[in-house]
Amino acid sequence: MSTYTVINPATASPVTEVALASLDETDALIERAQEAFPAWRDVAPGERARLLRSFAAVVDAHLEELAQLEVTNSGHTLGNARWEAGNVRDVLNYYSAAPERLFGRQIPVAGGIDLTFHEPLGVVAIIVPWNFPMPIAGWGFVPALAAGNTVVLKPAELTPLTAIRLGELALEAGLPPGVFTVIPGKGSVVGERFVTHPLVQKVCFTGSTEVGKQIMRGCADQVKKVTLELGGKSANIVFADADIAKAAATAPYAVFDNAGQDCCARSRILVQRSAYDEFLGRLETAVGAMKVIDPADPASEMGPMISAKQRDSVEGYLSGVEAAFTGPVPTGTDGFWLPPTVVLTEDTTIPVWREEVFGPVVAVMPFDDEDDAVRLANDTEYGLSGSIFTRDLGRALRVARAVESGNLSVNSHSSVRYWTPFGGYKQSGLGRELGPDAPNAFTEEKNVFIAQD
Ligand code: NAD
Repeated sequence: MSTYTVINPATASPVTEVALASLDETDALIERAQEAFPAWRDVAPGERARLLRSFAAVVDAHLEELAQLEVTNSGHTLGNARWEAGNVRDVLNYYSAAPERLFGRQIPVAGGIDLTFHEPLGVVAIIVPWNFPMPIAGWGFVPALAAGNTVVLKPAELTPLTAIRLGELALEAGLPPGVFTVIPGKGSVVGERFVTHPLVQKVCFTGSTEVGKQIMRGCADQVKKVTLELGGKSANIVFADADIAKAAATAPYAVFDNAGQDCCARSRILVQRSAYDEFLGRLETAVGAMKVIDPADPASEMGPMISAKQRDSVEGYLSGVEAAFTGPVPTGTDGFWLPPTVVLTEDTTIPVWREEVFGPVVAVMPFDDEDDAVRLANDTEYGLSGSIFTRDLGRALRVARAVESGNLSVNSHSSVRYWTPFGGYKQSGLGRELGPDAPNAFTEEKNVFIAQD
């Protein structure tokens, strides 16, 4: 049996061993999910709702345990980890209202009645990355279950612990065996099998754009449904008329949260030239004051990178690039730490400006006017999120409509809200998660005409 040693990224010390599923085990669990499907589909809407609320209550009762697991496994700050466990609970509560509201339509036709139904797909597979193990799992498995599907879920190799625990808590809450199955394993084994197994009806993937493309190609063989949530290189656009103090004080958290390992990280800051010097001065103060300390300390604002490999990759982006200034970093620990790092550039071709670094590095560039800002913001293959700081409401609207991105915030770096849709333009993804319509994405829409004579 192959196993994976989970490492605490803050200390580089081993935590536990996790068994990795083989191909045969994966097949057996997919078949078990298929066997569980007809009974789960037929659970009365009110009863399925009650079971999801019960699941939410059990998650709530284990919130601190789940948060601590995430701190140890992923190096997330305790504050973030508590929010993440709470997010799973909230998403369960929100979509627990979906089973009784999976409405079809009645469409006017001659000679009878026309009805639409949202019918569950069957077995749905969720593939989760290591950067936000709990929320990203929940955004997939919860609406899928609410719509009457059974779910198989593969956590990332590096971060399986909270997903495994959520699988146990589902059973404790009364979900029937086989309805929600967590299968720890390798992407090349379990993940690929989700794509190729004929019983899996949909793959919901969050991860790198490179692997996402591979999954989309694989799904084409069976015309399998696929949702992709991929990378980002989002812009934080600061106009000179904005509250510069607020823009500069909040910018570090919009990129360095989760040590920059966030698909929504605003890793490019565009600042209007006339406010550039003031903004940079204030940014330096804010970055210098960040609490980059042991993530288990409730005051911690930034923890370590997930792995030595990820830290080395980020360091690779920084070699040959001069940092304008950096924030603090702990010393005397073997963990995978890097300081928050600010790079100034006017060159749009350098990798730090173009590529998703996925670490605590931000590149800052001046711009001249609104057109210039929009052109620079859109000069990327990605389009996931972004922020616009201005006091001019008209400008805020114009720029928000012009930036090619799925999730924008004005005078804020709002994080994802589970009751609003989330997803990417361009190579940041395909389809949307969350929001009121998410369960429909896990259904087939069936149209039935009934003749009256
Ligand atoms: P990754 O693509 O390497 O892995 C993601 C998941 O896919 C893991 O569970 C992995 O085991 C699995 N996988 C790997 N190869 C596979 C294959 N051939 N077939 C099936 N599954 C396979 O990404 P990562 O390094 O874990 O996560 C970081 C990336 O995720 C970043 O690029 C980030 O931007 C992206 N991300 C995007 C969002 C979003 O919502 N858009 C959210 C979080 C992370």
